[in-house]
Amino acid sequence: MPFVAPGDPSIVASQLADAFATTYAGAPAVVARAPGRVNLIGEHTDYNRGLVLPVALPHATFAAASPRSDGLVRVRSAEHDEPWSGSLEDAADAPGWAAYAAGVLWALREAGVPLSGADVLVHGTVPLGAGLSSSAALECSVAVAACAAVGVDLDRSLVVDACIRAETEVAGAPTGGMDQTVSMLAEAGAALLIDFDAGTTAPVPLPLGPAGLALVVTDTRVSHALVDGGYGERRADCEAAAALLGVPSLRQATLAAVEEIPDQRVRRRARHVVTEVERVRAVVAALGAQDWAAVGARFAESHVSMRDDFEISCPELDLAVDTAVEAGAVGARMTGGGFGGSSIALVPTPRVDAVVRAVDAAFAAAGFAPPQHLLADPGPAAAVL
Ligand code: ADP
Ligand code: MG
Repeated sequence: MPFVAPGDPSIVASQLADAFATTYAGAPAVVARAPGRVNLIGEHTDYNRGLVLPVALPHATFAAASPRSDGLVRVRSAEHDEPWSGSLEDAADAPGWAAYAAGVLWALREAGVPLSGADVLVHGTVPLGAGLSSSAALECSVAVAACAAVGVDLDRSLVVDACIRAETEVAGAPTGGMDQTVSMLAEAGAALLIDFDAGTTAPVPLPLGPAGLALVVTDTRVSHALVDGGYGERRADCEAAAALLGVPSLRQATLAAVEEIPDQRVRRRARHVVTEVERVRAVVAALGAQDWAAVGARFAESHVSMRDDFEISCPELDLAVDTAVEAGAVGARMTGGGFGGSSIALVPTPRVDAVVRAVDAAFAAAGFAPPQHLLADPGPAAAVL
């Protein structure tokens, strides 16, 4: 079936180590793997101190790294033509894709990791710019490989913070921290409930296989651009709503208070956040009860909320979601920051083929570019291989 392959970790790692030796003339490297993620539910809630429930994908970025002692950083990617090199200080201003890879080395050094340069080669199987967090996978894989290369014990929360810093300060992309947290702290076979108010995480078992279900991810190939536009505007509306209600964040707001906000756009934005946090709670409870129909119903509500109240969907996402449900999915929704990117569908295993075919046919009939699909079996967190 036409699914994007995650790659066998040990095969990818050994191929990457060989490529590293060729590229950097013989230096032995440490190889680390860090997963992309797909969010089950809880969209635009992270920066509102809310709840999110992401899953680590089996798809990941692999980074090979070896330390240098001369302060030089050299980064290269199999997915990108432009290698970058410069000093560890220059890495704070690295351009383009190197902002993520070299930027995280700078951020690690700022956090006290004894780095004095590194050679890095990366290769990933997470689709780029599909809302599946190839950026966090890149940052985390480089960070974990670099820490191992200089022989420091892996401090996962320090790595999360350094990766967030690279993405916000070096790449200039606002991020709420969900992506880096799940890439570093996920457990195989489970989603990760992250509470951005309490600062806690907890695995939530996701026994898809025993339930006869698959989590199908559809990348619409509509590129989302978090750096400009809608994301910042949504964030500003949420902050305005919290200020108006006199609460530190929308996590503390009640739906009744939100419904009194006079400005109808700000009211709808806030309503999405407050109801979405409740839906995360409801999905966690439904998973505990193995009530998959209830999970699917919350997915449907979440999609409508994002389409109508938060206004971050697009025709391709709506078509992927509606078609998946018509073709037999238990539930479907757009996932990630929106304005393109991916959708998810919870599908009975015997219906997977029909759902994927129906979505492909609907895209062709609508004149949209062909989507691509992934199977999201919840995988493990980042680690050295
Ligand atoms: P997403 O995280 O949803 O995939 P982002 O826009 O946040 O989308 O990040 C995508 C960017 O991250 C790419 O445009 C590129 O700059 C960088 N990136 C991610 N993975 C790689 C990779 N394997 N090689 C080079 N750059 C990468
Ligand atoms: Mg990203």
